[in-house]
Amino acid sequence: MTNPLLLSDRLPAFRAIRPEHAVPALDTVLSENRAAIERLVEQVSDTPTWDNLVLPLEHLDARLDAVWSPVSHLNSVMNSPEQRDAYNACLPKLSDYASWVSQHKGLHGAFQRLSRTAEYSSLSPSRRKVIDDSLRDFHLSGVDLPDEERARLRAIDARLSVLTSRFEENVLDATQAWTWQTDDPSELAGLPASDLAMLAQNARDHDRGGYLVTLDIPSYLAVMSHADDRTLREQVYRAFVTRASDLGPHAGEYDNTEVMLEILQLRREKAEITGFPHYAARSLDRKMAESAEQVDAFLADLANRARPWAERDLADLSAFAAQELALEDLQAWDLPYASEKMRERRLGLSQEMLKPYFPAHQAVKGLFGLVERLFGVRFEADPGVEVWHDDVEYYRVYDANGSERAGFYFDLYARKHKRGGAWMDVCRNRFVARDHQQIPVAFMTCNSTPPVDGKPALFTHDEVITLFHEFGHGLHHMLTRVDEPEIAGINGVEWDAVELPSQFMENWCWEREALDLFARHYETGEPMPADLFQRLVDSRHFHAALQLLRQVEFSLFDMRLHAGPAPQDATGIQAVLDAVREEVAVIRPPDFNRFQNGFSHIFAGGYAAGYYSYKWAEVLSADAYARFEEEGLFSDRVGADYLREILEVGASRPAAESFRAFRGRDPQIDALLRHSGLTDGEAA
Ligand SMILES: [Zn+2]
Repeated sequence: MTNPLLLSDRLPAFRAIRPEHAVPALDTVLSENRAAIERLVEQVSDTPTWDNLVLPLEHLDARLDAVWSPVSHLNSVMNSPEQRDAYNACLPKLSDYASWVSQHKGLHGAFQRLSRTAEYSSLSPSRRKVIDDSLRDFHLSGVDLPDEERARLRAIDARLSVLTSRFEENVLDATQAWTWQTDDPSELAGLPASDLAMLAQNARDHDRGGYLVTLDIPSYLAVMSHADDRTLREQVYRAFVTRASDLGPHAGEYDNTEVMLEILQLRREKAEITGFPHYAARSLDRKMAESAEQVDAFLADLANRARPWAERDLADLSAFAAQELALEDLQAWDLPYASEKMRERRLGLSQEMLKPYFPAHQAVKGLFGLVERLFGVRFEADPGVEVWHDDVEYYRVYDANGSERAGFYFDLYARKHKRGGAWMDVCRNRFVARDHQQIPVAFMTCNSTPPVDGKPALFTHDEVITLFHEFGHGLHHMLTRVDEPEIAGINGVEWDAVELPSQFMENWCWEREALDLFARHYETGEPMPADLFQRLVDSRHFHAALQLLRQVEFSLFDMRLHAGPAPQDATGIQAVLDAVREEVAVIRPPDFNRFQNGFSHIFAGGYAAGYYSYKWAEVLSADAYARFEEEGLFSDRVGADYLREILEVGASRPAAESFRAFRGRDPQIDALLRHSGLTDGEAA
């Protein structure tokens, strides 16, 4: 057997892995796993134990991960047509296997029997949690339902997957259907040179001359934020906010209305079949928030606290627009434009001014230094580990006592055939058992510009934040002390709490004392001047209340849509949105706005009855960080507490308990408001 994917039980043999290895390796593991599960179920029959049931399953999962994680990772960072084909050929096999496991009645029965044994009550809390989580997931998959209802559930899932991808296609088609072209750059007066260059590139991409405005986000934002021509802004706005709806330049052509109604109705039915009053309750069953009412109250509280500031922001903006821009009646298509002009005049800050202080390597070193100081771990590069590209480095993570605790691959620079953005992915889970010792390993991926001609790569401040954010996910994965892979690190953590460790790390990028550790001018070595730092802080607060209210509006709309009866027609959906706006919004969009028809997060993505998670997790991360502010930014004790109560525990207990263990109380929203400048004594 020479398939390297099947041999790599420690770290993947990246130099030997080829796209053609993926499908045969996966086929082998999946069929061996299926056979092993059938044997297991038979063998354990009446006497399932942790060692004869759960542990062998953990080994089967680990073997599957060892094959799949390098295939999936290489598809992202070393893409090629062959790689993509292999990856796509694997996806249906994996989802078939996953649903076969989750619908396996024998396996479900074995877990049920195990949960009723005397052994169960003597297991460690984390092992009991693994068993409880498994039983919950079996139940959500409908395994314990009568055959007829199970069949209906499968039919609903199949139909939902068609509908959600149709929703996305409609948005995509509607986005592409509309363009606006000009040969005359003066019609685009106000746009910075870089945006004009992007629109010229857009035109070339469409085999046209001049400049092409499309409804893709960068193009849309460029016009809305900078175009002096008010009529053009209005035209682009109307086209954008009516996409995939009954209105606008392509009215009715890609209309998502029927798709949305059917999605909502099927979700409701699915929830009811599995014993929930509505879809929100089903979604919240695996989240930290306890009920739709609790989320509703949380969002209403945020809105109430932010509204006075948002009203002040809006009044301020209206006055500015009238005086400086001669815009007397501020319309929806004027808001981003006026806001951008105001930001430029008041702050005079651009990412270009910040970049010299963030040479990529220095930012990375600063990040490592900060983490070493806070959590007492140490990073060491190991050039001996096999990687997929010369730019990639492997780091070993050591404890204060010198024992190796984790590892990560660090792939910093952009290159061809590498997916954009930054992210953390799992290579290996922590998995420690009587017969097994496996440390967690992460993939840390960024897309910084490589150094050219001896000039270092420079990060924008946003890129530094992204790096810290993703590294926060990495730390959560790597510093875990939980031995069971199902609940180690980020695995199994409630979805609305999983961004706590990542957003927590972002806070350091706004902190003078933290920035001084690494933000130094790449030529002069000078720290960031006080005046520039102040402008950076002001930019964090700029129109923060308006943005917060917008997020609250989307979140409430999502929650109420999924917690109430399924709307019967378009008016029903609109009524939910209108009621939310009546309650929380200070900016009322025009009647023709069909934002909901393009709200992919909840209709096509995984955020249904979960959009509030962004704000929920931000409250947790801000409040956790506030303890560092209160007791000392670099306090050893607070760092050790955070490591022990938040980072190390994975999903071995509910996130709410972990938070209380660290903070000594339930989360409060004050720190988030203060960081956004929305408390008394601070300028908004
Ligand atoms: Zn994240």
